[in-house]
Amino acid sequence: MIYADYNGSAPIGQAVKEYLVNRLNNDGPYANPNAIHFLGSKCLRILETARQVCADVLGARPDQVFFTSGASEGISTIFHSAVLRAKEQGRQSILISQIEHAATIAAALFYEKQGMKLIWIPTLPSGVVDLEFVKKILKTQAKDIACVAVMAANNETGVIQPYSEIGKCAEENQVLFLCDTTQLIGKAEFSFSTSHLDFAVCSGHKLGALPGSGLLLAKHPTLLRPIIFGGGQELGKRGGTQNYIGAETLAIALKNFADNKDQLKTLNTARLSFEAKIKNGLPGLIIFSEEVSRLSNTTFLAYPGIMGQAVQIELESKNIFITTSAACSDNEPATSKVLQAMNIDDAIGRGAVRISLGLWSAPTDYDIIADAIIWAYKKLLKIQSY
Ligand code: PLP
Repeated sequence: MIYADYNGSAPIGQAVKEYLVNRLNNDGPYANPNAIHFLGSKCLRILETARQVCADVLGARPDQVFFTSGASEGISTIFHSAVLRAKEQGRQSILISQIEHAATIAAALFYEKQGMKLIWIPTLPSGVVDLEFVKKILKTQAKDIACVAVMAANNETGVIQPYSEIGKCAEENQVLFLCDTTQLIGKAEFSFSTSHLDFAVCSGHKLGALPGSGLLLAKHPTLLRPIIFGGGQELGKRGGTQNYIGAETLAIALKNFADNKDQLKTLNTARLSFEAKIKNGLPGLIIFSEEVSRLSNTTFLAYPGIMGQAVQIELESKNIFITTSAACSDNEPATSKVLQAMNIDDAIGRGAVRISLGLWSAPTDYDIIADAIIWAYKKLLKIQSY
């Protein structure tokens, strides 16, 4: 079996499995980390160590780290915080890219219904957001903008966005910058302190930690306003007893990534030869955003006229799990919003499939997937020609 949907969710990592087995076999400590008894204090100490580890790996201070249930919660909290502040300051617009994840788009649309104006950042055909547009708006309309939301790396194409440049410009113009770093963290070098971001997010299940774990980073923690009210946990910024075991696994997964990030180069080289091999075997195959900087693990491709779902099913018959980007209704595949923003024709967009591996995927995986992809497209092209 080959799992090639790491951008969707990564399998629990080996280091995390070992940590969990050890922790559960040792029978605890299990207690509310906010309780002041001995076991509670022990859990709190472990939680704070996890916070320190996460902060170190991500280039942040521990007091800038807030544990959450995942990236969507972080993004919702950040929007809530930015919009409340904007209301106090009379700011009425949100500057947002078209290729954001649904967690960001849905939050922005919610606040649009509440009276905020959305300014959509166009996307270049390469899949990179239009940096000049962002700079122009930040320079001319800064005082009206509640926040700018641009992701660090796109979940479908893997395109790395010019997030530090946007951060610099937002900082110069005193506009808050929410950068969805969900896909970048664990797949590329990242430092919160040097990237000029006000807010960033991280999702445990993308990194091989327990699902339901995550964190948000806030440059100025006082700007955060909770969306989950509770007993003052996470410095009053996120109510509810922390998922402390989840947070511990997040620290293990991040540390494991930091200790093995040399592997990124190997993965990148393997991806590039995989892409060369499938293009060679299938003239006419399109690899989206091929010419720009992408994550080491992501290939997003299509063959004009061949449906992505058909390819997915063929590969599944060989026990290889890839995904289409398409949101489907009534079994009618649709071009994803990301590809639409890149102006990709439907005949191509409906065919999109994504292959995303992880740092610990077997070195032979790409070769096996390449052979299967070439076989699947040749078969489907033959059927199409009848
Ligand atoms: N942002 C991006 C870019 C993602 O890929 C995802 C997950 O698919 C999310 C946010 C949401 O993450 P979570 O599942 O942790 O809420």
